[in-house]
Amino acid sequence: MVDLAASYVAGKWVSSGSAEQMDVTSPTTGKVLGTVGIAGSDEVDAAVAAARGALRSWGRTSPADRGAALGRLADALTARKSELADLATAEIGSPRSWSTFGQVITAAGVLRAYATITPGHPFSSSRPSMTGGSVEVRQLPVGVVGAIVPWNTPLFIAALKLGPALAAGCTVVLKPAPDAPLGFGVLMEAIEEAAIPDGVVNLVNGGAATGEMLTEHPGVDKVSFTGSTAVGAKIAASCGSRIRRCSTELGGKSAAIVLPDASLTETVTGLVSGVMGNNGQLCAALTRILLPRSRYSEFVDALTTAVADLTVGDPADRSTDIGPLINEAARNRVEGFLQRARAEGATVATGGERPEGTGWFVTPALVEATNDMEIAREEVFGPVAVVIAYDDDGDDVSEAVTIANDSRYGLVGAVWSADEERAASVAAQLHVGSVAVNSTAVLDFASPFGGFKQSGIGREGGPEGITGFIEYQAIIR
Ligand code: NAD
Repeated sequence: MVDLAASYVAGKWVSSGSAEQMDVTSPTTGKVLGTVGIAGSDEVDAAVAAARGALRSWGRTSPADRGAALGRLADALTARKSELADLATAEIGSPRSWSTFGQVITAAGVLRAYATITPGHPFSSSRPSMTGGSVEVRQLPVGVVGAIVPWNTPLFIAALKLGPALAAGCTVVLKPAPDAPLGFGVLMEAIEEAAIPDGVVNLVNGGAATGEMLTEHPGVDKVSFTGSTAVGAKIAASCGSRIRRCSTELGGKSAAIVLPDASLTETVTGLVSGVMGNNGQLCAALTRILLPRSRYSEFVDALTTAVADLTVGDPADRSTDIGPLINEAARNRVEGFLQRARAEGATVATGGERPEGTGWFVTPALVEATNDMEIAREEVFGPVAVVIAYDDDGDDVSEAVTIANDSRYGLVGAVWSADEERAASVAAQLHVGSVAVNSTAVLDFASPFGGFKQSGIGREGGPEGITGFIEYQAIIR
């Protein structure tokens, strides 16, 4: 059992006497894994005050010192990667074969990238002024950041916020999701081990109500939100009404385009991992697979076999490919999508069933659909791959590009081809934040990550991520 207080403020876990508790349960067994306090306004006030108190001195440390601190944090997380991966498998149901990389190495990788980027970032630069003098352009920390995190890859998303925010000299109040707060106990210990000063990173536990208190708190200068598009829209509206800085990393319905010359085996292996990683609960899952009509049956047969061959079961077993969904509501939602897809005329080629026993399992599914169907338009957030045929005519794959871009989302994409240059030129036509060529690596630790359209506003990751956490000031002489 892991028990965490409602908040972590200035280096200590604290709950006010009135804080309520919530249980964190295993999506595999239903057993209680721990209890966590729910932060109310007292805890949120205290966490924001601690972040405000630490802002001045942290903002004045040198970029080299801030980079070194982020490097130490990456090391501290890496040293505890097995423990963190076990926790993610327990509370999220991430297959243990995936969670070391997907939940921990990715988080440490982002922080390590900022350890390198921060010392060289141009926090101050000068240029000639129009009147013949000079202009000093300063990049100042935006201030106290309210950082709201989803449950699916919590440490990684926290790292995408802590890296650029701390690099910029901001201080942070994190709010984990109620389904997956336990790993944050270890994260806070790692922050102490990394000798990041008290008050620079604080945390409040709880659900939507605590999140609202944080985003609406007058002491917060910027909200960095990752989660669903529906909640992101609400938070952006609330920040807009306060002229509060806000960035949003939201949902996706990303397309993988298979060009007619793509290798069958490599592409199918890559695609299955690209859709089914973390039980299909990834914002960047490549859930729409666009297949050339000339090779449609060949690919659908191979994909159906590969999806049906995935091992579903206890995520702690290292041979498991697919664990449970996060909770009962998530399973009901995925099943509802599949039911409506069938009613719309889609074919479920494999999967979508409920295995016997406890846990919120759905067997991985492959659905043949068209791009106008709900299953091709909405984020399912479960182990469901949708295949869609496009007309390929010689070298003309423009219909694939049109279908890929026909989405309200624009997070990521992938293109598969024997000709890497051709794939890269198709990649450049996609209206998305990042595109992988012949792989599912849609995120580079030192590069910007974020979405076009309703996948969000702003970027985290890379030097570009720092700009979301600074205010520019021009001093003109
Ligand atoms: P969610 O939107 O339900 O919740 C996200 C966080 O917001 C949680 O901490 C939640 O407690 C909090 N929250 C909920 N209502 C709030 C409110 N009114 N005010 C303030 N905070 C509030 O999302 P989720 O179910 O936790 O995560 C899944 C979603 O996250 C998916 O849509 C997925 O695509 C998205 N996601 C996006 C990225 C990305 O980088 N684009 C990464 C991971 C997940």
